[in-house]
Amino acid sequence: MSDSFLVSPLGSLEYAPAPESAALARLSDSYGLFIDGRFSDPESHELVETLNPATGEPLARYARGSTSDVDAAVRSARHAYESVWRDLPGSERAKYLFRIARLIQERARELAVVETLDNGKPIRETRDVDVPLAAAHFFYYAGWADKLGYAGYGAAPRPLGVAGQIIPWNFPLLMAAWKLAPALAAGNTCVLKPAETTPLSALVLAEILQQADLPPGVVNIVTGDGTTGAALVAHPGIDKVAFTGSTEVGRRIQRTAAQTGRHLTLELGGKGANIVFEDAPLDEVIEGIIDGIFFNQGHVCCAGSRLLVEESVADEVLRRLRRRMDQLRVGDPLDKNTDVGAVNSATQLDKITELVEAGEREGALRYSASCALPDRGYWFAPTVFSNVSQTHRIAREEIFGPVLSMLTFRTPDEAVAKANNTPYGLACGVWSEKGSRTLWVAERLKAGVIWANTYNQFDPTSPFGGVRESGFGREGGRQGLEAYLDV
Ligand code: NAP
Ligand code: MG
Repeated sequence: MSDSFLVSPLGSLEYAPAPESAALARLSDSYGLFIDGRFSDPESHELVETLNPATGEPLARYARGSTSDVDAAVRSARHAYESVWRDLPGSERAKYLFRIARLIQERARELAVVETLDNGKPIRETRDVDVPLAAAHFFYYAGWADKLGYAGYGAAPRPLGVAGQIIPWNFPLLMAAWKLAPALAAGNTCVLKPAETTPLSALVLAEILQQADLPPGVVNIVTGDGTTGAALVAHPGIDKVAFTGSTEVGRRIQRTAAQTGRHLTLELGGKGANIVFEDAPLDEVIEGIIDGIFFNQGHVCCAGSRLLVEESVADEVLRRLRRRMDQLRVGDPLDKNTDVGAVNSATQLDKITELVEAGEREGALRYSASCALPDRGYWFAPTVFSNVSQTHRIAREEIFGPVLSMLTFRTPDEAVAKANNTPYGLACGVWSEKGSRTLWVAERLKAGVIWANTYNQFDPTSPFGGVRESGFGREGGRQGLEAYLDV
């Protein structure tokens, strides 16, 4: 055995650290706003800090976009829409999108490090999921830009105009790609508002847009907090609002949009059920459960956060799950061996802690992985609750952290009833050897996305979105174009 492998007291292999270099991020001390193709002088704005949640230390300062900044961005987007972008042939718009996709690939390593530093998610995920998928979205929609007449929305569908787009902190670059790529392909121009705790990858993307020579104003990136987002939603100059975030803020935005009659799509929260039948292959099931809830620290709207297991195999699933959780590597997000990184913010850690305490108080049985947590930054050990009843808060509310709630069922009808017993409807998973049973269950689940014998699979060709309180509209696929066309 080489020196770099040691057997830990838990019996699993311990790996020597394999950190990616933080220097690859090439961060500036401060960032201005990206409006009309240029970065504004940071010192001309109120500056706020973004932190590295793995250490709690500041990474950089960035501008809090004011109402007048939002106004400048919307005007620039309007001008670019009317003077350049709307009337550019689709084949020309496609060239820009292909260029952006290639530049994301060229700067992939830098983007992965920036995203990991700012968000706290493991480098293995940013490197293998977030960044490649962001590039894939631009490639995919580049292909549509000159074929809109074949998308099923009429021979020559028209864009909507200026889109105001607001994204959350859990997949900052990927959500920016989900928003920008279809909007641009369809001929709209954009004002994008990244989340308060994770502005940096969108600012690197702004540099990429400059590198790609995208005409000024076609995309504007206005960093800031909720007030910046609210100013964007309320601006009379936008034709469309696309929002991804919490159901609570989504409701507020819907009220504002209803008063103006503008187009709206909402991608909101979820409380996904991962349903395991007794005939499912348990080794694969355990990996699917782990991926469903611990991917991205559980900061995933479509997380499989409610585990529904057929009673006959529930004890066995729980036993294996706990053993597997003890093997997860929790720690330095820049380490290539890390499975679970830092919680994104102190606020989010407080929310997770509060709900976990409620779970214990209400009588559910808590098991947390026996991992050592770093002594600075924001961390939560992978946790599973058993003995959960449907009335417990941990079975009903979105925890948005590495916390799983396990319930049991005896019949397919009961599994479906429990899975649908939520106001949300974003995603579900079904695990069974029998295709007929999987289809029977899938037809009855109220969710926008259903995975069979897998979980958290994303592809730009495949539409993603919710029903009920998880929102409306689709991102990805041909359907994702509809959100940005006047149809
Ligand atoms: P959030 O508080 O709703 O924030 C989302 C975005 O909206 C952020 O950029 C936020 O800015 C901005 N914002 C806050 N208040 C606003 C207002 N009054 N008007 C306009 N914009 C406003 O959500 P979050 O906590 O960042 O994200 C987690 C939530 O997003 C979870 O519920 C999750 O399920 C959901 N989510 C859904 C999907 C999906 O596709 N369905 C994907 C990812 C996440 P600040 O950051 O400055 O507050
Ligand atoms: Mg940050």
